[in-house]
Amino acid sequence: MNWKNELKNNITTVEELGKYIFLSEEEAEKLREVISIHPMSITRYYLSLIDKENPMDPLRKMMIPSVNELIADGSYDTSGEASNTKMSGLQHKYAQTALVLSTNVCAAYCRFCFRKRLVGLPNEEVVSMFRDAAEYIRNHREITNVLISGGDSMMCDTPVIRSFLEELKGIDHLEFIRFGTRVPVVYPRRIIEDTELLDMLEEYSDNHHRVYVVTHFNHPNEITSESEAACAAFRKRGITVSNQAVLFKDVNDSPETLAALMSGLIRIGVNPYYVFQCRPVARVKSHFQLPLKKGYEIIEKAKTLLNGHGKRFRYIMSHCTGKIEIVGIMDDEIYFKYHQAKNPEDVGRFFKRKLKDTAAWLDELEKD
Ligand code: SF4
Repeated sequence: MNWKNELKNNITTVEELGKYIFLSEEEAEKLREVISIHPMSITRYYLSLIDKENPMDPLRKMMIPSVNELIADGSYDTSGEASNTKMSGLQHKYAQTALVLSTNVCAAYCRFCFRKRLVGLPNEEVVSMFRDAAEYIRNHREITNVLISGGDSMMCDTPVIRSFLEELKGIDHLEFIRFGTRVPVVYPRRIIEDTELLDMLEEYSDNHHRVYVVTHFNHPNEITSESEAACAAFRKRGITVSNQAVLFKDVNDSPETLAALMSGLIRIGVNPYYVFQCRPVARVKSHFQLPLKKGYEIIEKAKTLLNGHGKRFRYIMSHCTGKIEIVGIMDDEIYFKYHQAKNPEDVGRFFKRKLKDTAAWLDELEKD
């Protein structure tokens, strides 16, 4: 199978998009400007999930460019990735975890992406010599796990993924390897039909370091028979699949939608892991980010609709100082806890800030 061939049919131009979605001439002109800054690429499969008649369709918002992307407010590096980069394509922020940016390519380019600065664009942030990254990991015995991300790690050719695992297999202080991918959601065929990939992941997971997949469903409409089959294909090979979602305005910002997403994930055997606060990313923040207070209320209400399994996830802000869990609001204060921290002494530290209804990021809250 050549799964790359079908990606040549992705929607990448405003002219092609206009065949499926009504665009005024003025809007089309603005979208041309948007995609000259951040490219558009939509798989035919994901396009088929969008209700083309509904301008408020949540999947449309996630994948089809918006004129709101011309609002450049925000940052392209909200989690301090540049400061954690040890060499091209390798970040080391938390002692136990190495993060490898394996590629700048994705099957489809999500409009909300927090690595918008690099996906689909020429850059020098992705790994050029995986062997050098593996050498760094080998020399840092505190690293117990590697997250292979991107872009989308499953857009690497299967022999390339094999070469990553080969490089890592002899490192005895590693406990497990994770692949970050939204391919099961936006282009499940790449997984379902590539038995070589699945066999290889099973072989390495059983004989060397346990392999996990972390995927990225944000809305229950993304759970289809195809995306379910992609996740099942991993699970049948003994690969545990977890999900990281992000809370987005007008996408999944209702308790019922969020609860339906988590229940749906449990039904298809995917573990809810994190729900992230949307980062203040340039060209994303203004139209995707919700205030923390509102986000907390949605999440707590969603939890009342879920059983224990469905509400195992944590509500997290991926801040430059660490992964900060939003644990509670009482009176006019909001409480946080460092789930992971760049400074190891901060791990587990509770702290609070005076609540501000409109604040959407830690830096917008004043210390008491
Ligand atoms: S698949 Fe992931 S990395 Fe790629 S554009 Fe979407 S969110 Fe960003």
